[in-house]
Amino acid sequence: MQKRRCPTCKKTLLGTLFVKELDLELDQCPTCKGIWFDKNELEQLVDSAASKISVPPEAEPSMRVCPLCHKKMLVFHYPRTLVSVDFCRSCKGLWLDQGELNQIRAVRDRLEKGGQLDDKSGISLGRFIKVALASFKK
Ligand SMILES: [Zn+2]
Ligand SMILES: [Zn+2]
Repeated sequence: MQKRRCPTCKKTLLGTLFVKELDLELDQCPTCKGIWFDKNELEQLVDSAASKISVPPEAEPSMRVCPLCHKKMLVFHYPRTLVSVDFCRSCKGLWLDQGELNQIRAVRDRLEKGGQLDDKSGISLGRFIKVALASFKK
């Protein structure tokens, strides 16, 4: 398998992170703890085709490069937050910083408590993020 480099740290090679609860093996950067989700991994989590993940029109080219395709990814805000995620349009992979995960969790917890969480609108990443967050709590 081709070596994958962290889109943030650039030179660091991604390691593997086995998530027992999901029976999934993800790629994680040992340095910055960012997490890479392959298309297949994403599909298992959102339970639908990754090709259906819609990129908002305000998405911008990211400074980060896809660990697989080595193309520039798109960066956009996760719905209702100011947290940005990086998404590769070619291979449909997704990159999340450790800090971004924590910010998404905080905002979603707040919205959920207020009963304002509505995943029908926006990108269908809601469930995926939720599962991902639950897995990385420990
Ligand atoms: Zn890194
Ligand atoms: Zn890619």
